[in-house]
Amino acid sequence: MEKREKLYEGKAKIIYATDEPDKVIAHYKDAATAFDAVKKATIKGKGVLNNTIASFFFQMLNERGIPTHFIKKLSDREMLIYRVEIIPVEVVVRNIAAGSIVKRLGIPKNTKFEPPLVEFYLKNDELHDPIICEQHIYAMNLAKPEEVAQMKELALKVNEILKEFMEKQGVILVDFKLEFGRKDGKILLADEISPDTCRFWDAKTGESLDKDRFRFDLGDLIEGYKKILEKIEKNQ
Ligand code: UDP
Repeated sequence: MEKREKLYEGKAKIIYATDEPDKVIAHYKDAATAFDAVKKATIKGKGVLNNTIASFFFQMLNERGIPTHFIKKLSDREMLIYRVEIIPVEVVVRNIAAGSIVKRLGIPKNTKFEPPLVEFYLKNDELHDPIICEQHIYAMNLAKPEEVAQMKELALKVNEILKEFMEKQGVILVDFKLEFGRKDGKILLADEISPDTCRFWDAKTGESLDKDRFRFDLGDLIEGYKKILEKIEKNQ
């Protein structure tokens, strides 16, 4: 496997080509952004933690029959993944009210959602990732009804697997964001699953062990992410 040219650079990751056309390398950076990148910082070691945590979650999901883009962890900061065409829709699953839903709808923080909520957001920085409904997805031709049905089903399955697993580690999975991609006509779970994209609360103390530490200055980010890694690694 040979690393080739840079294909794309996002806020938290760089994607490199390889000598195999259907495989690319995701490189996790130390950059942290929040609130539409209004708040920015470099946090030494974040990329290594997120690559390690995301590799663990993707591996576990692959083993549990969820089709993902993940092939293998290559190094501290890099994973080998399938090249996919990203569907520009962010899928958010919520078990407990926190973050934007509290602000937008006035639902009290901590309200439990049973069954969990599934929401769609348009992946568009200029428009600040607005919330959209299924009809918008079809009107804008972003995905087909079968694809949306699959994304919803997969998102809820991922929720069940991660929620149960994290519960055993003493961590509450509050909510998270997923992205999906197409490869050879199939839908694969793509992008990243890490404390950057999930809300994790310590079940005993209620402490945030995720990017809310950076968003709201709740404490050292690395310390929180390390706690997540230590908890999940006990189960390897
Ligand atoms: N999220 C994300 N990327 C985004 C927006 C949200 O990873 O661009 C994650 C976020 O970390 C949280 C969940 O999706 O775990 C729900 O986020 P919310 O809509 O509450 O937005 P926030 O207030 O966190 O920006």
